[in-house]
Amino acid sequence: LGADGRASKRVFLAAPRGFCAGVDRAIQIVEKSIERYGAPVYVRHEIVHNRHVVDRLSGLGAVFVAELSECPDDRPVVFSAHGVPKSVPRAAEARNLNFLDATCPLVSKVHVEAERHAKNGRHILLIGHTGHPEVIGTMGQLPEGDISLIETEEDARNFSPADPENLALVTQTTLSVDDTAGLIAILQERFPSIALPFKEDICYATTNRQAAVKAIAERCDLLLVIGSQKSSNSKRLVEVGAKGGADESMLISDADSLDWDRVDAAKTIGLSAGASAPEYLTNGVLAALRSRYDVTVEEVEVVKEKVVFRLPRQLLSA
Ligand code: SF4
Repeated sequence: LGADGRASKRVFLAAPRGFCAGVDRAIQIVEKSIERYGAPVYVRHEIVHNRHVVDRLSGLGAVFVAELSECPDDRPVVFSAHGVPKSVPRAAEARNLNFLDATCPLVSKVHVEAERHAKNGRHILLIGHTGHPEVIGTMGQLPEGDISLIETEEDARNFSPADPENLALVTQTTLSVDDTAGLIAILQERFPSIALPFKEDICYATTNRQAAVKAIAERCDLLLVIGSQKSSNSKRLVEVGAKGGADESMLISDADSLDWDRVDAAKTIGLSAGASAPEYLTNGVLAALRSRYDVTVEEVEVVKEKVVFRLPRQLLSA
């Protein structure tokens, strides 16, 4: 018990956590488009996978749609941070739409790599999760059949290429660093000449958030990751926490979704947030914990991030 008779909780706050430079830029693109062009501004797909972010931008005048066909000709449309198949900007150009591309530059980098390999006559393997918008966007950079998706170790073992000497590998940016290394090892052993990324495709933000969770996991009775069920990088943080030694590791969307029986049972609590979760949600969880317990917070920072991405030219000019 703490000095005031309330139960004590020790909280390890992972750093870095929460917004990455790509999410920050995507949100700014929507906000600045509304400032510049007025509302409504259409957004194809959730700009980032977080309901709080989407609801706030809707309040400012963003209209979220699933497909470009739902956008009127006379309003701007923003493409989400996850990236889009080539057919989407092509269709927007054909309709003369004013479109702004919020694809994270680190996702665009993977698109460029895939195209370069294809030009060099290589068949491409993409490690990623079926159905995730980033995977749909990356596969859509090239004609159907030019990219094969590898999701599991079984896929990596069973894949049989037409030409094993001419393969290249790219990955989704938000995967588990450790699981991906395992898949790459299998592919490299089977296909020694496979071309690998110059520098890993898993982005700095995913890597750093996983490292920070690893640094606290062993000390946690309960690890809480704030993020959406749809958020790939957030779900990977939960897995990294469980593998790293947290007794229990769970995804929560915000303070309202805290499971108090579990929190009650934990003496030490780890807290992190996925790359699409705003910092005020972390503060909300800390405030909820402080309202019930005597809380001491220790921030564990594994690296300082200084990455910032420029906005598209359309929004920079006066
Ligand atoms: Fe870009 Fe990585 Fe953030 Fe995705 S998680 S938006 S790839 S920086």
